Amino acid sequence: MNAKKSFVVPFDDIGPIDTEFPFILFISQAATEGVLGDHLASVGQRVDRGVEVTSLVADNSGVVCTLRHLDGGEEQVRADFVAGCDGAHSFVRKAADIPFKGDAYPETFVLGDVEVDGAIIPNALNLFFGANGVAAFFPLGRPRTWRMIAIAPPEVGAEINPTDRPQLTLDELQRIADVSVPIPLRLRDPDWLANFRLHHRQAEHYRSGRFFLAGDAAHVHSPAGGQGMNTGLQDAWNLGWKLALVVRGVGKDRLLDSYEAERLPVGRFLLRYTDRLFGQFARAAKGGVIANIVRTVFVRILLPRVMASPKRRARAFRILSQLGIRYRSSPIVQEGQPGLNVGPRPGDRFPDAPVTVRSQATRLHHELIGFRFHLLLCGPETAWDSAEILRLEKRYAGLLSTRHLSRAGSESVLCDPTGSALALLGVQDQAVYIIRPDGHVSYRSAGASLDGAVAHLANLLTK
Ligand SMILES: Cc1cc2nc3c(=O)[nH]c(=O)nc-3n(C[C@H](O)[C@H](O)[C@H](O)COP(=O)(O)OP(=O)(O)OC[C@H]3O[C@@H](n4cnc5c(N)ncnc54)[C@H](O)[C@@H]3O)c2cc1C
Repeated sequence: MNAKKSFVVPFDDIGPIDTEFPFILFISQAATEGVLGDHLASVGQRVDRGVEVTSLVADNSGVVCTLRHLDGGEEQVRADFVAGCDGAHSFVRKAADIPFKGDAYPETFVLGDVEVDGAIIPNALNLFFGANGVAAFFPLGRPRTWRMIAIAPPEVGAEINPTDRPQLTLDELQRIADVSVPIPLRLRDPDWLANFRLHHRQAEHYRSGRFFLAGDAAHVHSPAGGQGMNTGLQDAWNLGWKLALVVRGVGKDRLLDSYEAERLPVGRFLLRYTDRLFGQFARAAKGGVIANIVRTVFVRILLPRVMASPKRRARAFRILSQLGIRYRSSPIVQEGQPGLNVGPRPGDRFPDAPVTVRSQATRLHHELIGFRFHLLLCGPETAWDSAEILRLEKRYAGLLSTRHLSRAGSESVLCDPTGSALALLGVQDQAVYIIRPDGHVSYRSAGASLDGAVAHLANLLTK
């Protein structure tokens, strides 16, 4: 392979990072939807396909939603809140009168799920910078081995304008590969071929009264970096537990307000970052002197530098995997007194680390999982009054569970004999952490006092 014009990104070596899954998994969106659908079914829920929302009218006590079924029949349902997860052309966003500001990219994109003959490296992202274009091959696995995504060179783009004709032929995709890939590759057996335009837009608000926006309804951007669906899923993850608590009457309304405060900045960062990344690709795709400079900087300097350094690789992975997302400025996270100087700060993702329970190996994330807040008491068990903990668990029954993390202790203690998990959390003697249902730090303080933690919970929950 021509080392000056192509780059291979391995998916199984992402540098030092606190996760049980230190690799990049590339699976199709259909497979992801299948997994989520199966999980929903396993908890007795299902998605009603073929039902369209045709009207939404909010009043003081809720929203009247008109639904049209496939057989043309209509029904009205009343809801406390409506979450608009209805894509880039969101009906909910329009009903809530939320502006969707941004623009369209002028370039035409092509996509093909195909088999490829030629010197392509298996199980890795193959990025090519050809004479007149840029092409990426992702190892999809199923239903075809490769997903090719490329920016069509201007002369081909003009011919295959997606607004006139969204379909693409294999011959057209092959022509684009021929000018975008500096080695001979033959494409065959297509499963899905498409050409399309992309937009970069973001909703001005993620909440308006009883309406919320999540996913592409809230933000659309270039697929450079493969972040769109995952960002939408994380929006839903962030909103879901807050809505569930408020609808059940145990969560305060400030939880719902924090959704926009936490997720809108994440969408804004994503738009800026994908726009910059996309700009580099678009310039490289055009050919000419500027394209050569971009390719040289990207392929020969930037990418090798990132990939050669475990630290930089881990940083890039944190951005791509979205494990680095944090909500430090959120109005619902809090540093207690006395504060901790090191460790994950309020709003950060709670890190993962190996521990043992009853001498069995496990991980913090395995033990601190489930739809509730987790009070983690770090340090010797004897530092806390068990009666006080029981009272707290009773008050927040079903909403709070308590665990101890200590170098040694009784049966249910998360044991950290080497002290490495305690060190990761910045614990010297004792510390108190509250972890939210979505795995982010809600509250932390040094020492063993529970006063700050109790006040923090009372600020979020109605009990
Ligand atoms: C080429 C390409 C490659 C991509 N690659 C990646 C990637 O590698 N990784 C990644 O994370 N993301 C990727 N994305 C982005 C990803 O596909 C989207 O971000 C994701 O599909 C958005 O999901 P969503 O549920 O928010 O919206 P959608 O997928 O658009 O779903 C919205 C749903 O709402 C329904 N709906 C609309 N209006 C109504 C109504 N009035 N009533 C009832 N239902 C309604 C629609 O029928 C649809 O089912 C890519 C996108 C493109 C175009």
